[in-house]
Amino acid sequence: MLEIDGSAGEGGGQVLRTALGLSLATGRPFRIRGIRAGRERPGLLRQHLAAVRAAAAIGEARVEGDHLGSTTLSFTPRGLRAGEHHAAIGSAGSALLVIQAVLPGLLVAGGPSRLVVDGGTHNPAAPPYPFLSRVFLPLLCRMGASVELALDRPGFYPAGGGRVVLEVEPAPLRPLVLLERGDVLAMTASAITSGLNPNVAHRQLLVLRDRFGLGREALVAETVGSPMGPGNAVFIEVQCAHVTEGFAAIGERGRTAEAVATRAAEEAEAWLAHGQPVGEHLADQLLVPMSLAPGSVFRTGALSSHARTNLEGVARFVPLPQRVVELAGGGVEVGLG
Ligand code: AMP
Repeated sequence: MLEIDGSAGEGGGQVLRTALGLSLATGRPFRIRGIRAGRERPGLLRQHLAAVRAAAAIGEARVEGDHLGSTTLSFTPRGLRAGEHHAAIGSAGSALLVIQAVLPGLLVAGGPSRLVVDGGTHNPAAPPYPFLSRVFLPLLCRMGASVELALDRPGFYPAGGGRVVLEVEPAPLRPLVLLERGDVLAMTASAITSGLNPNVAHRQLLVLRDRFGLGREALVAETVGSPMGPGNAVFIEVQCAHVTEGFAAIGERGRTAEAVATRAAEEAEAWLAHGQPVGEHLADQLLVPMSLAPGSVFRTGALSSHARTNLEGVARFVPLPQRVVELAGGGVEVGLG
């Protein structure tokens, strides 16, 4: 049984999710102590518990410690069950983070799967729906898997109430090689609102138009109906010759529309400035599927604490050589295997 220290590095939910996903994919059982020790409210929140339960169903796992607030968990997978799965978070916790946790298992399962997750689809401190569907999952498809994500209904922070449906057709994963960004081919900005004055989206798009010199055709204001509460998200998508990146910010009570747009813009600008293909969030998220496809390599601007923590988490389950090289002109190259 692998012993994982949940307080190591970033000390957040990602340590647990990486362990769940790679335990499913490798069949290796683990025990984690100090779950989310680095966070204000340590232990399993609803989102993490939903991820544990979904992983347990997929991996036919024996689990101990799966209750709210738990800081210790043991997880022993006994199989890998493709097919229909459903996870309900029961709060606005991120549905996409539940997907992030179990996807490695579904990618190597013996057949196609369909996973329905009820929860938040546009949350702060988590990949929102467009980030997975437009940025992360297309790269998994490039690695050979067939993965599609549909937004059944949006669920904005803080109310939640959304639903996403993931369809996965496993295939042997090919290494991902992402060394160049290539020319910027297109840039679009969307502002999504639910139950708010449409003026919020317009003000956000004005900020992004001015900052990036975008034409009308590149600006999308979307009004959606979410069953619960008001919500708002901004997403900037940059399509380049070799990669599509995306930068999101989520509206919050007390933060102006302009401040939300500016936050997404600043992330996009930082990425545009460093010139490497992989952005901060994509970097930590790619490490897990890459560990299942030895020979994978990418370049990014600088490694975040999430990425460093994930490199350590991946190494516990998959004993591949890891290469982190500072590049002469700035940036970092990360290779696994
Ligand atoms: P944790 O803080 O340990 O729960 O992990 C949060 C996860 O969400 C990490 O994989 C982050 O890369 C990811 N994440 C946070 N914010 C964003 C964002 N704006 N866009 C994409 N991914 C994000």
